[in-house]
Amino acid sequence: MSALAIKGSGFTYWVMDGAVAVAGPCSSLVSAQTKLDALERAKRVKERPCIRCRTVFMSEGAHHRMCGVCRSTTSSDAGDYTCAPRASRRSITN
Ligand SMILES: [Zn+2]
Repeated sequence: MSALAIKGSGFTYWVMDGAVAVAGPCSSLVSAQTKLDALERAKRVKERPCIRCRTVFMSEGAHHRMCGVCRSTTSSDAGDYTCAPRASRRSITN
């Protein structure tokens, strides 16, 4: 996999992947850099199985190992840590 690079000058910049222009022309170096960053991020994204439900999803990297469904489920409730049963709570108030 070749690294992305920016080529150009003045008001015309291109994002190059080897000899191929993958983005551009950009009117400033900053906007070319922004496009390069987005493309670099897109390159890291690949299909991985979710560590929780094994569904294959688009992972953004090694830190991202759970599918969207599992991530929203684990953040909205405490999962395994929710262990206080309603019955014991009632016995405390009585
Ligand atoms: Zn999952």
